[in-house]
Amino acid sequence: MAEIQLRKVSKRWGSFVGVREFDLTIADQEFLVLLGPSGCGKTTTMRMIAGLEDASSGDILVDGKRINDLDPKDRDVAMVFQSYALYPNMNVYENIRFPLKVRGIPASEHDARVKRASAMVELDEFLHRKPAELSGGQRQRVALARAVVREPNVFLMDEPLSNLDAKLRVSTRAQIKNLSHELKTTTIYVTHDQIEAMTLADRVVVMSKGVVQQVGTPTEIYDRPANTFVAGFIGSPAMNLVDGTLENGTFTADKISIFGLPTQHSGKVTLGFRAEDASVADSPAQANSQVYSLELLGEATMVTMRAGGTIVSVKSGKEYRTEIDDAVHANIPADICHIFDAETGERV
Ligand code: ATP
Repeated sequence: MAEIQLRKVSKRWGSFVGVREFDLTIADQEFLVLLGPSGCGKTTTMRMIAGLEDASSGDILVDGKRINDLDPKDRDVAMVFQSYALYPNMNVYENIRFPLKVRGIPASEHDARVKRASAMVELDEFLHRKPAELSGGQRQRVALARAVVREPNVFLMDEPLSNLDAKLRVSTRAQIKNLSHELKTTTIYVTHDQIEAMTLADRVVVMSKGVVQQVGTPTEIYDRPANTFVAGFIGSPAMNLVDGTLENGTFTADKISIFGLPTQHSGKVTLGFRAEDASVADSPAQANSQVYSLELLGEATMVTMRAGGTIVSVKSGKEYRTEIDDAVHANIPADICHIFDAETGERV
């Protein structure tokens, strides 16, 4: 069992606030991903849970017990970092066994536990090798096995895949998800990669400048972003965001008009829509844009177009043919639009 509660946890250095009133309960066995751009406070949040950084205020509880003052070694958490710091003089077996020795686990248990952990990450054939004789991906898996071998209640993972190439990231990602499920461990995982977040998480916490912007399942975050920051951060490409005016259900901006928006709101707004929710047609008679760039994605083509001063991207079928500078028309159905207050950026 490991339910983690963060109650208004803040970290300040002088007048600078690295994390502001982080308030969340992470359920036992949940896979929670902290997502946000560089410097938003992800690592600091994680380090406070691990005990590597003191919280300036707020409480951190595990299963209802306050752990703020517990030493890192007395917290039942195992961390995996992006720089995996293996001991170069020890072979894989000894590296994985190391946490057991440090924690005084009886020697009679070591062999079975090391073998179980190494089998989980498919390293059984490499136990005699030194880190220098391994690939980057294999080293990363040694680091994972070293966390697994402790059989902790909580895994804290800080960008554990960032040193791997694209293919290995995908396979190791699947392995991590599987491990946390099999071990029934509560996992907190830090990344700035939204694809990693969306594929791994039960829930995602999106952070910006030390402040939690939204907490939700990947689908909730994708389908109903709480503000323009989340809308602009999630999705590839990010949501199109266009500033304009809303009046009686009609949005207008420069050369874009959208009618029949299901809202009573009026005034200055930011309208958002996803590239895949809109479509593109070459109907010169009513064309309101020119093609600015084309990207072939394999299963589709991303058409980026310029409508006056506004640039938006729309996904078209792969059979759609157009050229740069062609006159085109973007079809933006009213019911797929997201509306945000222009001033606060909050969803309305
Ligand atoms: P990244 O993805 O780049 O690792 P992050 O979201 O993990 O970023 P943190 O490492 O948590 O960000 O840092 C949050 C903020 O706190 C940053 O602006 C950072 O410069 C600041 N910070 C971190 N450690 C200290 C420190 N010891 N003293 C002062 N400021 C710090």
